[in-house]
Amino acid sequence: MAILKISEPGQSPLPHQFKKVIGIDLGTTNSLVAAVSHDGSGEGEFPAVLNDLEGRAMLPSVVHYGIDGADCVGHEAMALAAQDPFNTLASFKRLMGRGIDDIDDLQQFNVANDTVSTDQKKSTAMIRLATVAGDITPLEASAEILKSLFNRAQARLGGPIEGAVITVPAYFDDAQRQATKDAASLAGLKLLRLINEPTAAAVAYGLDKADDRLVVIYDLGGGTFDVSILQLSDGVFEVLATSGNSSLGGDDFDLAIVQWALTQVGCVADDLSPSEYRRLLASARAVKQQLTESEAKSIDFTCANERHQLNLSRDQFNALITPLVNTTVEVCRSSLHDAGLTPAEIADVVLVGGSTRVPLVQERVAELFQQKPKVDVDPDKVVALGAAIQADVLIGNSSNADLLLLDVTPLSLGIETMGGLVEKIIHRNTSIPSSRGQEFTTYKDGQTALAIHVLQGERDLVADCRSLARFELRGIPPMVAGAARIEVTFKVDADGLLEVSAQEIITGITANIQVKPSYGLADNEIAEMLKASYSYAEQDRDARMLAEQKVEAIGLIDAVKAALLVDADLLDEQQLGDIRQSIETLLLDIDTNNTLIISQSVAILGRETESFAALRMDQSIRTALQGKNLDDVVE
Ligand code: ADP
Ligand code: MG
Repeated sequence: MAILKISEPGQSPLPHQFKKVIGIDLGTTNSLVAAVSHDGSGEGEFPAVLNDLEGRAMLPSVVHYGIDGADCVGHEAMALAAQDPFNTLASFKRLMGRGIDDIDDLQQFNVANDTVSTDQKKSTAMIRLATVAGDITPLEASAEILKSLFNRAQARLGGPIEGAVITVPAYFDDAQRQATKDAASLAGLKLLRLINEPTAAAVAYGLDKADDRLVVIYDLGGGTFDVSILQLSDGVFEVLATSGNSSLGGDDFDLAIVQWALTQVGCVADDLSPSEYRRLLASARAVKQQLTESEAKSIDFTCANERHQLNLSRDQFNALITPLVNTTVEVCRSSLHDAGLTPAEIADVVLVGGSTRVPLVQERVAELFQQKPKVDVDPDKVVALGAAIQADVLIGNSSNADLLLLDVTPLSLGIETMGGLVEKIIHRNTSIPSSRGQEFTTYKDGQTALAIHVLQGERDLVADCRSLARFELRGIPPMVAGAARIEVTFKVDADGLLEVSAQEIITGITANIQVKPSYGLADNEIAEMLKASYSYAEQDRDARMLAEQKVEAIGLIDAVKAALLVDADLLDEQQLGDIRQSIETLLLDIDTNNTLIISQSVAILGRETESFAALRMDQSIRTALQGKNLDDVVE
């Protein structure tokens, strides 16, 4: 749209001008969507989770596949898990952006054969899960969850959603973030930003308004554990350090109970049919959650059709999960150490994630930090609420627009140098967005090309780090070894995604690459998936595109008319006539319900008003500068 809308200083936009945006907590176990509502005065802002029609906030992150593709998600899909385990995908967030070698415990997943076929494939393919609908990537399953939340939000908020903030664990690496981003585009969502879950939690607690202090966010969900240390100063918070474990969470508590139950009756997991296993897992989870309130619970299950009943006390359960909880406490300790802090320096500890309801977890955290952790905001909802607030700020709705988020890179990024060593360029816990360059040189006389291998990880050897990408800088003029000067620049954007470029300084030759992580999908694969999803939902898409196109057309007409009211005198008669004519045409075209025709007319009106917008800008700048000298302006 060519016309720029600029409101007068001090005047808040009218209520109907608030843009509809959402925050999504895309969890391993449960996902939620939230939005900020505005009371119209421009002052009141109320973040709230958007419930489904049955009044439930959480959408289980479960997708069921039938022959034609995904046929249901959430509670409905979960209800099918026991009877149709192979076609019911759950916990797939653990597999996002991951290859077969990355995951130790694949037992609960029905991995597609071709993911494991050859060694060659092993190292590059993202894990796929076999279903009757074909092999499904975790990315596609995530897109189904996102679509469902998106539809819920559209129904609840009534109208087109202009963008979303999606949260990811702070510990997610580049591949996992990219996979999440790809899932969003597959779901047709306009992604405003990926933000770290603990950062979102801090936003939800309104910590930017607190006094300067250090805060720890301890997030134990279903499948992931994250700890972040935030520093608040002057209403701005910076993430000093993040650490965690992307495969440790409440699911592991469930598995510990399953393991215990099987051992008690002398069975192994292989003795159970897939649906018996699923049922046992579901009972284990239910018992675990009940033990939060009760001292003991019984668990019923069948193994090879034989019935068993066992009693589990909270003390026994505590013993089972102690090693897991201790691991999280150790991670907290080393994260504090990384940041050069002691537990006593932490002012607040915030608990996030359903698994922080487990009493032993709360005890251990309190013990470490010598204080009672905060649980005022529902630990299930806090992340989605923070994401919604952040989306509202990013789209420009919020009066709180000066809220600044500083995030850090979770792992170091570097390149391979001679001898299979990694030279780190951006160190872990560097604030993002961030850009850093480093000079390298050639190793051999007359060397005309340089192979650049981008790696992520903390270790010194290439073999111990994750390979993100390779590219080449060619056309270096032949020189003696060590004479060429090659500057390699790493740029990490606000989503935590990396772009690498290299330049030979003497000749100016450049090469660059947007890092597509090894386990990510190629652009054409995403295009293929998009095409496939369209053929299932072509009508939905067409209807949505038409609706969006109409909204854009009406918005443009309104904006042009408003601008003409004020500034029509900037135009000559011919220009004015053309613009008026195009508005009439566009108004008629809107009624054709033909997306293409509308979009063409929108483009025409947009072009015609471009110079008008430029004239208006010039004029407003001139007005703003009137009576000021250069020093004022620079200031
Ligand atoms: P994620 O962010 O990974 O989706 P959540 O934050 O929604 O996860 O947490 C889900 C986990 O919390 C599950 O393992 C679930 O069993 C556990 N959980 C939820 N309520 C309770 C409870 N009352 N007691 C113990 N664990 C609980
Ligand atoms: Mg979570």
